[in-house]
Amino acid sequence: MFSLWILAHGLFGLIIGSFLNVVALRSFTGRSLQGRSGCLSCGGTLTPLMLVPVLSWVAMRRQCVHCGSRISLQYPLVEIVTALGFATVAGMALVPFAHVCALVLVAFWILISTYDIRHTIVPDGWAYAACIAAFGIAFAATQPNEWVYLVVGAAVPAIPLLLLWVATSGKAMGFGDVKLALSMGALLGPLYGTAAVFLAFVIGALVSVFILMPWPHFARLYTYLVSPRLRRYRVGFTMNSEVPFGPFLISGAFIVWLQLTYHLHLPLIDLFLFPFVR
Ligand SMILES: [Zn+2]
Repeated sequence: MFSLWILAHGLFGLIIGSFLNVVALRSFTGRSLQGRSGCLSCGGTLTPLMLVPVLSWVAMRRQCVHCGSRISLQYPLVEIVTALGFATVAGMALVPFAHVCALVLVAFWILISTYDIRHTIVPDGWAYAACIAAFGIAFAATQPNEWVYLVVGAAVPAIPLLLLWVATSGKAMGFGDVKLALSMGALLGPLYGTAAVFLAFVIGALVSVFILMPWPHFARLYTYLVSPRLRRYRVGFTMNSEVPFGPFLISGAFIVWLQLTYHLHLPLIDLFLFPFVR
């Protein structure tokens, strides 16, 4: 029964992930979210059979059936990550209201990550939506007389990012990342939220070291994930390349959230959380 519940969430996640791809692609371009999906290169229409999450991408051999242009790895990746995210939420045994908020939060986090990787921008509205969903989860787990602390505490993890934003005039850190950190504070509280921000810096540093290495495979994999179009213009990465920070923040938050809700004791993460745990 329990595994069926998780499986159903995984399948639901695949469908929502497919929708998130459309939203990430069409938002802020003036295109409506309705209307049929078509190939980005030739405009050829895609039949419903070509829109099955993950499977269609594999069956079509990663290319458009009309013009043969490459279909980005982003599509199946977003679908799979959303499926895994939803399945993870299903196992958290939250009360119904918090459960719905958690699914919404995961969906917006994935949407923000996808958009940030492509455009290095965290859209305001999505950062706020994630924040509201995160507050929903936190409010459901606390008494109303504690809600004021929850709201004040939510701002704490954003402070280091805000300072970095001010100190570098927005060069090292976008203001969108500061807003994104509010959802981390709302969900995890001031201490664990701040731990998640620091974890994000560690993850970001590790990933940056990998893509700055003179190993072309890593740079190629990264550019392949970000945008197949970039491959033509850029061979490798330099220290000056703009790397989106949103996905690192979200990864940090998700790992700490997992650690707390599943009572995991991952050795490295435990070591990292140690100064923050009472
Ligand atoms: Zn095409």
